[in-house]
Amino acid sequence: MRGMSKTAILGGLSVLAVLSIAAGAYGYSLLTGELARSKEMLKSTTTEAAARESKLQEDLRIKSEENITLAGELRLLEEAHDDEKRTVRKLSNTVNDLEKIVATDPELLAKYSKIYFLNENYAPAKLSSIATEFTFQKERTYEIHADTAKFLEDLLADAKEEGLSLIVASSYRSFSAQAALKSGYRVRFGTGANAFSAEQGYSEHQLGTAVDFTTPGVGATFAGFDKTDEYAWLTKHAHEYGFILSYPKGNTYYQYEPWHWRFVGKKLAERLHDDDDYFYDLDQRVIDTYLGELFD
Ligand SMILES: [Zn+2]
Repeated sequence: MRGMSKTAILGGLSVLAVLSIAAGAYGYSLLTGELARSKEMLKSTTTEAAARESKLQEDLRIKSEENITLAGELRLLEEAHDDEKRTVRKLSNTVNDLEKIVATDPELLAKYSKIYFLNENYAPAKLSSIATEFTFQKERTYEIHADTAKFLEDLLADAKEEGLSLIVASSYRSFSAQAALKSGYRVRFGTGANAFSAEQGYSEHQLGTAVDFTTPGVGATFAGFDKTDEYAWLTKHAHEYGFILSYPKGNTYYQYEPWHWRFVGKKLAERLHDDDDYFYDLDQRVIDTYLGELFD
């Protein structure tokens, strides 16, 4: 009995042992599977996370690029807007200048030479009278282009303030007045009248923007006018009021007339004075660029 039970016990133990090993092996394989699954999960989770992160980074890069692009586009739009505003400003200035040029009578800056005369029907748009304190014959009315009047008045008043006696012996002359004057000269002086009453000087008087200055002492013959202080003052200051000497000594357009001054506007008169240029030698196209500023 004892032997049998011993064997039975041993056998039982062996079975237990086998069972226990088997159980152990079984548990181990469970754990290993779990581990593998976990590892697999971790791996896929990590991959997903990495993919999500790189996607986020890509999105972020795209967004920031879009931002940069948008900021650039905004800047470009703002610049275009500024350009547009500048263009509009420039255009409206150009329109203003053009309107002034169109509104200004181009004859007022035209050159009248031995071959180009002013039309006999031409008359200034508006005339105004020169104050008698500055005229030669007090009973006569002396007229000048209305837009030129204030420049001439300033010139005469400033000369007076300097103690000078500058007066006007001739100003606007109509075609018929000039024709009468010329035939009067002809009666008295014959064909020699052309020498001191020719067409181009007449044209400038018909414009209403030319005046013949003198002094009470020199009078209407103008003899020796270029020796007076009044003439010296004119050569120094007339351009400040927009007046120029039409026929200076040595010009090829007409006889020397130190008394005959024509209004061409301050801008052009100053340019001619500063550059020591002569009106009749300038290109008419250059002269015409001053038309818009004639009465500035
Ligand atoms: Zn004259």
